[in-house]
Amino acid sequence: MRNAQPTASHFINGAYVEDTEGALIECVYPATGKVIATLHEATPSIVDQALSAAKAGQKIWAAMTGTERGRILRRAADIMRERNRELSELETLDTGKPLQETLVADATSGADALEYFGGLAATLTGEHIQLGQDWVYTIREPLGVCVGIGAWNYPTQIACWKGAPALACGNSMVFKPSETTPLCALKVAEILHEAGLPAGVYNVIQGRGAVGASLVTDPRVAKVSLTGSVPTGRKVYAAAAERMKHVTMELGGKSPLIVFDDADIDNAVSGAILGNFYSSGQVCSNGTRVFVQKGIKQAFLARLKERLSGAVMGDPMDEATNFGPMVSADQMNIVLGYINKGTEEGATLVAGGKMADREGYFVEPTVFADVTDDMTIAREEIFGPVMAVFDFDTEEEVMARANDTEFGLAAGVFTNDLTRAHRVVAGFEAGTCYINTYNLAPVEAPFGGTKASGVGRENSKEAINHYSEVKTVYVAMTPVEAQF
Ligand code: NDP
Repeated sequence: MRNAQPTASHFINGAYVEDTEGALIECVYPATGKVIATLHEATPSIVDQALSAAKAGQKIWAAMTGTERGRILRRAADIMRERNRELSELETLDTGKPLQETLVADATSGADALEYFGGLAATLTGEHIQLGQDWVYTIREPLGVCVGIGAWNYPTQIACWKGAPALACGNSMVFKPSETTPLCALKVAEILHEAGLPAGVYNVIQGRGAVGASLVTDPRVAKVSLTGSVPTGRKVYAAAAERMKHVTMELGGKSPLIVFDDADIDNAVSGAILGNFYSSGQVCSNGTRVFVQKGIKQAFLARLKERLSGAVMGDPMDEATNFGPMVSADQMNIVLGYINKGTEEGATLVAGGKMADREGYFVEPTVFADVTDDMTIAREEIFGPVMAVFDFDTEEEVMARANDTEFGLAAGVFTNDLTRAHRVVAGFEAGTCYINTYNLAPVEAPFGGTKASGVGRENSKEAINHYSEVKTVYVAMTPVEAQF
């Protein structure tokens, strides 16, 4: 049995902190179902300590120059890259994702965010607006204490995608990881402090939804950034609105991936595999509704089936494994429930469809064909390795069907017709679109959703607008002219 016990459950004011009064959180390795660490939920006293530390730390941090802040974030990025293997192994234990993935997608993308926003920190300025003799200048100010609440699929990345822009702008953060994956964010906090971050600027506390809720409603908090499901997003957004707090909501999706009959089939199959089976399908932006034009349906399905034989399910710590388990028994049962629904409602099972015959929470990569728009697997986010393939005839028809969803996170198109590609993307009701590829999320590009999939954008310069606000200063150079 592997052991990943952290020094303590929480990281507050620059140090590990424990409070055994908090309810137990057992961290389970999804590949074996064995407990690998035991932590405690934050008690009200821990929540209070974290917010007080963040409030005090933010003042010290905001008083530093952008150059100084950026240097610390970039140093943290370097440390993360040096320790990539160790951090990737921890990410694999926390989530069950294969080491083959975590070595290239988690601590590395966290480091990218720290490096990118570290680089931007010194460039954040207001502007000068001349108004005849008078003038206005603006000051770009941090918001204050920000709360980050994470989902369980990318615990290191989410902790950095929220922390890096928040800290670059001079805010502090209290981050609550998902109770399912409590380990990785603690390492992010540890590394940031090793890089020179003042105590209290980045804090991590553990807990279930109620701990998240107590953070959201605390008057010391200026902003909440959530990565999670739409139902949780609705609750958190409403609670934040009560006190008019800033929010970023990175929520779920049911994204369309359209394959026209002129597309390079192998490339389109690669996009569909990447967009449905990476991280065993536990990716918010996945293109889970794959619309294939009728003329290439059989060729597409045949090639897809052939390629699925390349899935290597096994010990996630073995670098040859490219398909891991679901994060938890609960998630596995949710996914199996959707697979049953797919069969019951008349979709054709092309591949997979059941639990793997091995220990851990493995579900086979599953493909349904002949899916119709009203089926449950066509409408609800599954968050597992289940691809639904639909047929279509015309561009006009498929666009209407692709957009007929409450979600609007991502969308993709495979075609070799340049004009059509751009026309289709212009018509997508989605925040993040792809032409002849799928699911890439470099830190330089904005990432986020429209409609029920979210509010605001992460990554890129866009994120700066969501972690700072502008103060306007009007400067009069002439006497005031009053009306009486
Ligand atoms: P959940 O919505 O269940 O939870 C997200 C986080 O919110 C967890 O830390 C959870 O705590 C916490 N939480 C739950 N209730 C509350 C509350 N009332 N107030 C404050 N915090 C609360 O999502 P999952 O963890 O199950 O993650 C999967 C979801 O995340 C999917 O819908 C997926 O699409 C979405 N996602 C979106 C991404 C994006 O960028 N758009 C990226 C990745 C995932 P706990 O779980 O510990 O109880």
